[in-house]
Amino acid sequence: MFGGTFDPVHLGHLRSAVELHEALGLDRVHLMPAKAPPLRGAPRVTGEQRLALLRLGIGDTPGLVADDRELAREGPSYSADTLASLRAEFGAGARLVMALGHDAFLRLADWHAPERLFALAHLVVVDRPDHAAPLAAPLARLIEGREVADVASLMARPAGGLLRLRLPSRMAISATEVRRRLEEGRSVRYLLPEAVERHILTHGLYRR
Ligand code: ATP
Repeated sequence: MFGGTFDPVHLGHLRSAVELHEALGLDRVHLMPAKAPPLRGAPRVTGEQRLALLRLGIGDTPGLVADDRELAREGPSYSADTLASLRAEFGAGARLVMALGHDAFLRLADWHAPERLFALAHLVVVDRPDHAAPLAAPLARLIEGREVADVASLMARPAGGLLRLRLPSRMAISATEVRRRLEEGRSVRYLLPEAVERHILTHGLYRR
């Protein structure tokens, strides 16, 4: 599971998903737009638009799927509920991984039921340029004893571990910067897949 606001999806998300798929030997990466992210402001465009952009971005990429289960659910998008639904679907023995960028990881202790996340899945933290910071005490306590050194140790169990990964193509692309550029009418070429850029420009999304 690779969740987020995807407001809009960009190549930092998509390339990370492809490299996670490869590095962890996953069957699939479910990219999952959140409906109402509890810890941030409202997205600039609707969930349906963010999902449409995500589908365009993924195209026919092997191993990546756009998963709309959080958009379809009532109420806030708690990752613990999403992982519970994946666990129910794939069974107790399946190895489930929740991947997130280092910036999102730094706020993990503030999430809804963070301990439950580890009962349901492994966490894989993807290094992101410009997002290094020391861990606050509640986060350090939450992950105590969970960190493993490599993929093999993580995948030996169905859930409960933490792995930090530096993927080959670390990209300093953020949706905030993409939105800013679109608002100002500046180029976003090569920050997004071409089909995503075309859809945004054709429909006038993210204009001031
Ligand atoms: P914003 O700038 O609006 O906060 P964002 O670019 O961080 O957006 P999100 O949709 O909030 O994108 O991120 C979804 C997930 O993808 C998060 O776990 C985030 O850390 C991760 N992520 C976003 N951009 C990158 C990137 N360039 N490289 C690796 N991971 C990323």
